Amino acid sequence: MENQNGKRFFDNIFQELTSRVINTKTVTVKCTKNPEHKEYEAEVIVNEDGSETFLTVCPECLRDAELKAERERKISECKKANVEPEFYNKTFEDYKAETDSQKAALEAVKEVYSGNLKKIVLLGSYGTGKTMLASILARDMKGKIYSMYEISTMIRQSYTVKAEKTELEIVNELASVPFLAIDEVGRTNGSNSEKNWLSYILDKRHVRGLPFVLISNGHLSRNCPNGGCEKCFENYMDGDVISRLRQDSKVIDIVGKDYRAKK
Ligand SMILES: [Zn+2]
Ligand SMILES: [Zn+2]
Repeated sequence: MENQNGKRFFDNIFQELTSRVINTKTVTVKCTKNPEHKEYEAEVIVNEDGSETFLTVCPECLRDAELKAERERKISECKKANVEPEFYNKTFEDYKAETDSQKAALEAVKEVYSGNLKKIVLLGSYGTGKTMLASILARDMKGKIYSMYEISTMIRQSYTVKAEKTELEIVNELASVPFLAIDEVGRTNGSNSEKNWLSYILDKRHVRGLPFVLISNGHLSRNCPNGGCEKCFENYMDGDVISRLRQDSKVIDIVGKDYRAKK
């Protein structure tokens, strides 16, 4: 008796379901959101009251939504890496390596990306694309790029009442991110405290085998046109950092085409 009832119960549900689901159709529709989208085939359920429920959304709208999500994800990665908006969409392909030193710089950053090289010092005038190359690395290696000025300011602020992080927390973060670029080395006053935290960060990264790129508009003292001046790169950091960089980093003095033409 119970079985009979049970069977009837399921029969009823089955009938109910099939009578609902059976009323579907495929129609060709136009996108309601964007008149430029192509017509598409949509699966539609015709409900008992005659209303229709669309099961298929416009494929072009779907693709747009995916692209938008992808763009937003990229932008948030760039912001996290402190990359400037002008470099958000840049890739190595966008870098115009016109001179031998620019080609060498491009090769070197690619080696950092692939993990074969840990340290680069990029020297040279403005407009040679140093910041762009380092920004691409910072974004794609989930690292950070900061100018000396920005780090100095963050550290100075760490001693104010409103500070969220201590100096040690700031330098430890910079010492442990997967990749670090420090731009405009030599633009700040190069005080002892600055040399100290810079040594600390670079030393920790060296010990941990974490890659970094240093960028400066200065030059090596051996290439100094003045036989030693305030733009000599060696002035900006401690002697021990310099001697270590001499041993195991690639130092590239980039000369751009425009720069050369002007000389
Ligand atoms: Zn659409
Ligand atoms: Zn000099």
